[in-house]
Amino acid sequence: MISIKRLLQDATSIIMPRNCPVCDKPLDSDERFMCRKCQMQLPLTHFHEIDFNLMEQLFAGKVPIERAAAYFYYEKSSHYAALLHDLKYRNQPQLGRWLAQQAATLMQPSGIWNGIDFIIPVPLHISKLAKRGYNQSQYIAQGIAGVTGIPVKPWLKARQAHSSQTRKDKFERMQSAQGMYLPTKAALAQLQGKHVLIVDDVVTTGATLLSCAEALHEAVPDIKISLFTLAAARLD
Ligand SMILES: [Zn+2]
Repeated sequence: MISIKRLLQDATSIIMPRNCPVCDKPLDSDERFMCRKCQMQLPLTHFHEIDFNLMEQLFAGKVPIERAAAYFYYEKSSHYAALLHDLKYRNQPQLGRWLAQQAATLMQPSGIWNGIDFIIPVPLHISKLAKRGYNQSQYIAQGIAGVTGIPVKPWLKARQAHSSQTRKDKFERMQSAQGMYLPTKAALAQLQGKHVLIVDDVVTTGATLLSCAEALHEAVPDIKISLFTLAAARLD
């Protein structure tokens, strides 16, 4: 049966044809966010199948991490960078939810989600949230929750606004992320002995995720932490 929502989507795409954000070709009526070809060619990391993968190595010796995985590789020069740009800056939070659903479904057979009690999105500072209107990590978290049934809890808060990360070098970004996040009071009461998945859109230096993991680990020493991002900058 064709839903009214679907009819409206199709009608909208006749008025304003939607194009694939990666290759810019018009999408078919059954392609919602990306064309089939670009989805098939998405440069997957396969981190979820690799012991001590590159992302886990990034945190080794800094904070105890159970598992870490990213869905696809991200390079600024790649057409796939458009996915992250649309998600963050072009009011496309549903794209994040959909990509996370694809990732969660792909990774589920590996057992990567087993034993995780809560999903915690990396928070945006309130001023940034007001400007953007949404936290993309919240949508990514909801995408994983939709597949796994694990509840999403907004149990981290951002301590202070920070200027754009993009113009800073690696060391400055590492420094500015320190002490930026705090667990909420509700978190402290419920996280003893639990396993949480911290979720963000991209991992580059790992500074943001490290700061979140450190904040939780300091507050709840027996917590277990895993990490997920949609994309990983080529770590080389
Ligand atoms: Zn495409």
